[in-house]
Amino acid sequence: MPRLWPNTRPLPYETPLSNAGRNAALNHQTNGVSAFCTDLGLSFSGLHDGEDQAIAKLAALLGVEHAAFDLGTIGRQGHSFYLRGQRLLQSSLRRRRLHVCPACISRDITVSDLPPLASAYCRSHWLLDAIRVCPEHRLELVALELRSDVSEYDFSARLAPYLEADVLPRKHFDAPLRFQSYLFERLEKPPSTGNFLDELEFHVAARLCEILGVTMMFGKKQTLETLSNSDWLAAGELGFSYASEPNGYRSALTELQRNFDLVATSKDGVAAVFGHLHRWLSIGRPDPSFKPVRDLTRVHIVQSMPIGAGEVLFGEAVTVRKIHSVRSASVELQAQPQRLRRLLRAHGCLAPADDGKPDALTLFDAQRHAGFLCDIREAIHRPRVGRYIGASGQMVSCLIREGLIKPFVRASAEHQLQQNLFLPRDLDGFLERLFEHAILSKKATEEPLVDVMTAAHRANTPLWKVLEWILSGRLKPRRGPGPLKVTALLINLPELRTLARSEYDLITRVDVCKTLKVSKDDARRLVKAGLLKIEWENDRSNRRHKHLVCKSDLERFYRKYCSLNEVAQYANVSCAHAEYILTSNGLRPAIPRDRGLHPFYFRSVLGSGPIALAHARKDSEWNDVEFLDAHFLNATQIARIAPFFPKRYQRADWRAVSGIVHIMRQGLRWSYANEYGGIGLYSRFVTGSRRGVFDRVFHALAQEDLGPDRILVSIEHLNAQPTAAKLVEAGFFPLLSREALRQT
Ligand SMILES: [Zn+2]
Repeated sequence: MPRLWPNTRPLPYETPLSNAGRNAALNHQTNGVSAFCTDLGLSFSGLHDGEDQAIAKLAALLGVEHAAFDLGTIGRQGHSFYLRGQRLLQSSLRRRRLHVCPACISRDITVSDLPPLASAYCRSHWLLDAIRVCPEHRLELVALELRSDVSEYDFSARLAPYLEADVLPRKHFDAPLRFQSYLFERLEKPPSTGNFLDELEFHVAARLCEILGVTMMFGKKQTLETLSNSDWLAAGELGFSYASEPNGYRSALTELQRNFDLVATSKDGVAAVFGHLHRWLSIGRPDPSFKPVRDLTRVHIVQSMPIGAGEVLFGEAVTVRKIHSVRSASVELQAQPQRLRRLLRAHGCLAPADDGKPDALTLFDAQRHAGFLCDIREAIHRPRVGRYIGASGQMVSCLIREGLIKPFVRASAEHQLQQNLFLPRDLDGFLERLFEHAILSKKATEEPLVDVMTAAHRANTPLWKVLEWILSGRLKPRRGPGPLKVTALLINLPELRTLARSEYDLITRVDVCKTLKVSKDDARRLVKAGLLKIEWENDRSNRRHKHLVCKSDLERFYRKYCSLNEVAQYANVSCAHAEYILTSNGLRPAIPRDRGLHPFYFRSVLGSGPIALAHARKDSEWNDVEFLDAHFLNATQIARIAPFFPKRYQRADWRAVSGIVHIMRQGLRWSYANEYGGIGLYSRFVTGSRRGVFDRVFHALAQEDLGPDRILVSIEHLNAQPTAAKLVEAGFFPLLSREALRQT
């Protein structure tokens, strides 16, 4: 094969096309390298793509070994490119955007005897996108302008305008450029350290550092096209400082997450957090060389971000959710985020430091708390518990109070949880225990069966006690038709009553009244005075406040004391009569009438069994009784004066009025009135007179149409009584005074 003459051989790292261009210049081919190739039968595209055949032909023309071009050839295989054993992608090359080192070009021209165009040559690593600085001179590589009249791949033609004078700008870097050095070393020899970055293919490692740096330095809103060469250089250095460290890549991702400002973006997805990095990994998806980075990124995201199973990340579906945010959990549970947050806080899923963080950035371990979330989904509120177990609200209150059903999350002011939450399975468990000993009720049963609430009420037993007996198997309930709910629980009332009587030594206040023959108020006062011990049973289950007395206590009290009422009923006389008789016999009440108490006497004094009151009766006492009654106003007289008194006036009140009339008629002193129990007559008289009541009473009683029932109480009568005389003087008896004037 003929040799080309004159020729110039390939220089270190020189690309085949650059060498062809220099030979064209040396041979005065002014139409550029493509015309030169055509003339010599060389394949332009073959040289450009590093095809063996084309390079072999060029080597033969120059009389050199094929291997002379090895360091400068970027070979192509399909979509992959290879330089010095490193695989590259189309995107990692910048063939049209030719970059050169000004210092290298000047030196080429200086050291060579050939014309400038035949001396300056293109290094193959200048065609790599990531190489931005000349490793030798630490000068920034300068981009050559594209020209329309020459081929974009013709290095000599594009460099020509810059060769007249030293016009290429020189920017020198003093600071160490570790990333650039690392890349150049990797081109020279395969890496040996074996860290994460070294395991990656050259183009992935290079771009990863740059994209990571850009995302960290400029944020995700930065448009990549507007970044200068220096920006990329700085970004690459920053990215390399992270990625070259063990676990450095993941700490860079953590850093990005930490600096993520949700408020500024309003989006919380992976793309929003990782910006350019996410886009780069997504776009580069089909190429297997990205897999290690993608896998590591995916692992990091799944472990630190709320990504759910089934969500697609870099083309692969996530299988297991590891992290939840309050927002993702609220979407999954269809729960209100604020309430969910409080529940999580109460359960200890969230730290106090999480307060105030946005819902999307408040994270917790999804796997550790999966059970709790599941429970929240199923849990029901207090109002729904009643419907679920078929019980009334009061009954539910009782069940909660007695701890028969326990909330799964308790209401707490600290965590701003207003209501208890219950789990259906807990409630089911309670119902099962309740029906454990139940007998299936037959349809045509003769038993008097009632529901549990009514049973408790009728048997005067607290509901919780009834439930306790059922749960312990001491009371066998019946199971009615319908689903397993409290409504289906039926109680045999006599059975419950028997149990309650044997077990439960308490009776109600009504029974106290019946036994002691006193009014409810009297019974209450006995308790208040501490004379009767009462077990207070605040039975809220049926909204009644029952006062239950210990039966044995009441029996003890009854054996000791006898009420005045009981004496009166036994003797078949009024209470007043009975009291009068007892007092006359020198019997003072054991519990006197003070503090509004009903009087009680020692039963032993009255006689055991039937009260020996009859023996106490004496003739003289009967006379006293009749004497008292002789002054009692009769029905006609009371009817006449009744309008002046309140309607509620009872026998005792009329007795007092009768006493007053008697005293006034006789001009008696009040001490006389006391002898027959006229307590309070004085004050009644003074108050009544000041209101003009007794003026009208005496006037009405003195009317002649009353006939034999007429009672004359005149001014003279009143003047004879010291208290009345003062009231007459003060003018409180105008009617009687006028009557007296008329008669005189
Ligand atoms: Zn240089």
